[in-house]
Amino acid sequence: MTLTFLGTRGNIDISTRRHRRHTSTLVSHRGVQVMIDCGADWLRHVDRVAPDAIVLTHAHPDHIDGLRHGSPCPVYAPRAVWRALARWPIPERHPLTLRVPSNIRGIHLKAFPLDHSVIAPAVGYRITAGGATIFYAPDVLRIRHAADALTGIRLYVGDGATIARPIVRVEGRKGAAVGHAPIVTQLEWCAEAGVRRAIFTHCGRAIVAGRPDVEERIAAVGRAERIETRIAHDGLRIVLR
Ligand SMILES: [Zn+2]
Ligand SMILES: [Zn+2]
Repeated sequence: MTLTFLGTRGNIDISTRRHRRHTSTLVSHRGVQVMIDCGADWLRHVDRVAPDAIVLTHAHPDHIDGLRHGSPCPVYAPRAVWRALARWPIPERHPLTLRVPSNIRGIHLKAFPLDHSVIAPAVGYRITAGGATIFYAPDVLRIRHAADALTGIRLYVGDGATIARPIVRVEGRKGAAVGHAPIVTQLEWCAEAGVRRAIFTHCGRAIVAGRPDVEERIAAVGRAERIETRIAHDGLRIVLR
């Protein structure tokens, strides 16, 4: 499995050369390319990526708005995401059922519900291809079935919106917590599940406009938990064998 971080910018109003476009990642295996998320920055640029399929995590604009004018390929998403895209001209729509495995031409994935938003319910994907398994959660406050999602994975790809302080508020009639878990908390989840490698995308202001040593400081937190930790940037490629 090869991961190409096409975009690594979170939902913020600044961008840099390293974090230019909204968070999207290409999963490739044996010539099949699946693009995960397609935010506003990808409108008019999806054709150049030429994916075989697009998979969506949730219906926030920085994850879906690139499909506003349609899609060049089939799109896979949980039913809650499709409700937000009901009027968009996407001809090939594949609904995904939570925690039921799907196979997109040899790339296997399973959607796990996450706490992140009430109006745009989010999932993370456990993805297996070519003998490697990863978990991908670009926007996450909490993973609901964390042990099932994370046990046995080679790599955790997580939410870089914030480093040490949670971005959290309470929303809706039931008072659900929504927002983003900090990197330090996600590293605790990884440590608990025995995950040894983590890469953070969906970078927030603390990373994008942070000090030049921000990646090293985050790596030091990871080392304390015996986790190899990196910050993704646009164009980064990771090969997992
Ligand atoms: Zn986002
Ligand atoms: Zn979001």
